[in-house]
Parts: sequence; C-alpha cells; structure tokens
Amino acid sequence: MLFGVEGIDRNELESYARQELFNEINECVNNLELTGDGLAERLAEGGILPMYGMPSRVRDLYHQDPSRKQKVSTIDRDLDLAIAEFAPGSEKTKDKRIYTSIGFTAPLLPDKKNGLVPADEPLSGRKWMLRCLRCQHTETSAHQFEHTVCPKCDATDEQGFRVFQWAVPLAFRTSLNRGDDAKNEYDVLITGAGSVAESKPQDFHLVNNTNTQIAFSESGRVFRVNDNRGQLFKGATGNATFGQGEKLLPNQWIDERFQNKNDGVKFQKQGESEEMIAIVAPKTTGVLRIKPATVPDGLCLDPVAPGSAVKAALSFILYGTKTTVLVYWLMQLPQ
Ligand SMILES: [Zn+2]
Repeated sequence: MLFGVEGIDRNELESYARQELFNEINECVNNLELTGDGLAERLAEGGILPMYGMPSRVRDLYHQDPSRKQKVSTIDRDLDLAIAEFAPGSEKTKDKRIYTSIGFTAPLLPDKKNGLVPADEPLSGRKWMLRCLRCQHTETSAHQFEHTVCPKCDATDEQGFRVFQWAVPLAFRTSLNRGDDAKNEYDVLITGAGSVAESKPQDFHLVNNTNTQIAFSESGRVFRVNDNRGQLFKGATGNATFGQGEKLLPNQWIDERFQNKNDGVKFQKQGESEEMIAIVAPKTTGVLRIKPATVPDGLCLDPVAPGSAVKAALSFILYGTKTTVLVYWLMQLPQ
C-alpha cells in the first residue's frame, strides 16, 4: 500500500498516480471477490486507497423471524467471522431459537412479482488454492494447479499438501423455517477457520542477537479459510425453496446435506454436478513473517511429521485502526 510509508519519493508517487493507479482501480472494480458497496469500499477492501473508517465486509445470514409473520430477518457478521459462524451446517442461536445455515445466496432484493430475488450469483468466481500444511507455502490461481507435491518442500498429500477450489460467499441462508427451540444459549456449532498468507519471494532480515528472521510486506494477500476441517463443503447451485410454499428462488447454493431433505429445502440443480469448495475471506493487509534462522540439530519443527509435537503453524492477526497485520510463523524445515 502506498500510504503510511515514510519517505515517499515525489517522482515515484507522481508516476504511480499517473501510470499505475488507473489499472489498479480497474482491477479492483472487476474483482468479484470484493463485494463492497460502491467504489470507495471496493478500493479500500482491495488495499488500493484508504477510506475514512474501515471498509464494511459485513455478510448477512437470512433466516425467518417467527415473531414477525413470514418476515425475513438477518444476522450479520464481518466476513472473517461469517465464513466460520454461518458456514453450511453451523447453528446460530437468536432469541432462543436455533437456525441452521444450509448454503449461500446473493443479497436478496425486493421484487414486485416474486417478493424477493437474489441480486447475483451466490459466490464469487471459483479459484484454486495450493496450500502446504508442512511449510505453509500458499499460492492462489484462477486455474487448476499441476503440482502434485509442494513446490517448496516436496511434501505429498500425506505430508499435508493440499490443492482445492475456493470462493467467497456473498450472503448465507437457512431453510427459512421457524428454527428449532434452543436447548440453551451456548448451543452453537462452529467449524473453524484459519488464516494463511499468499507466499511471495521476500528478503528476510536477521534480528540481531537472536535466531529469528523477519520480513514485513505492507500489502500481503491474506486468506481466512474454512475448508470444513479438510473435508470441503459439497453442494451445488440451483433453484431452491425459500420459506414455506413451493416457490423456487434461483441462484441458491445448497449444501448436499440439505438438498431435498427433511430439514432442508426443495432443490433443483442448475448445472451438471456437485462441487467441493472451501469458503474464504480474502483481505489485503500487512503481513509480518517470522521464522527461525537455523534449526538446531535434534530439533524437528515439521508440524505434520509422525509423532510431531509441533502444532501447525502459528498465525494470529493484530487488529489496528488503520490496518490489520497478520503475524505469520514459518517453519524452517531441515534441508
Ligand atoms: Zn511445503
């Protein structure tokens, strides 16, 4: 990112504004992963230009409110939380009723003929992610990867190498039934999500008098990934009922566990086949990478080696007022 940097060169700034900024704005406008309302939010979400306050990345879960007949209500969360709390199969408790998420929809708009109609496709365009649980190498691409082992450390499937498809949900939905009676206020099932940063070549600096190397990038691509504990979410886009009645709403992505099932919805597939995806909250933000400079003999830092006591890579996010920094611990594997 351009701002918050000390010692900006005047000529560099001018040439950036004259030559590069236009293309970056264009890319941002056409990036389907960004769903901010209006240009300012999109540019902020894409990390191109800042806006006053933080961009809104709020996503809705549509459910029925039994106290207000037939009325559709929403619970909202920041996208980072929504991909875990609203994931298909997850339960949310509100006003002592339990609502189960069954899939995705685009935000719903009022429609004279049908009542409600989705604004768009339920998910952003599908992309691919290559991820190594062993060394934390991460790449994304619009196309399928050809690698069958980690390009960085040669880890195989058994050693934590994964390639999968992912998308960003625009909004989430339940079956729009009345919800179940809550047994207690804490009865909430959540599938986990972890943060990863896209790998890029970087110069690490040794921290004096330590065994630690660090690298900071001002605009790293960070992904919060919910891969359903490695199983991915299986479902399809199609026409599905929304609440009582037989009327079908188009462009609904429904998890196969809830397609034409008792506690699900009536569903007709639009395309050919089911798909397996992870749901992701992408973000452009600062990334601080930390790794050991050398690994002493006899110490194994491989998180997926049999019998390894090393927990999978540590990553945590520091939320600030201006920017978010993902602090990222990289394993230094013995060569
Ligand atoms: Zn690897």
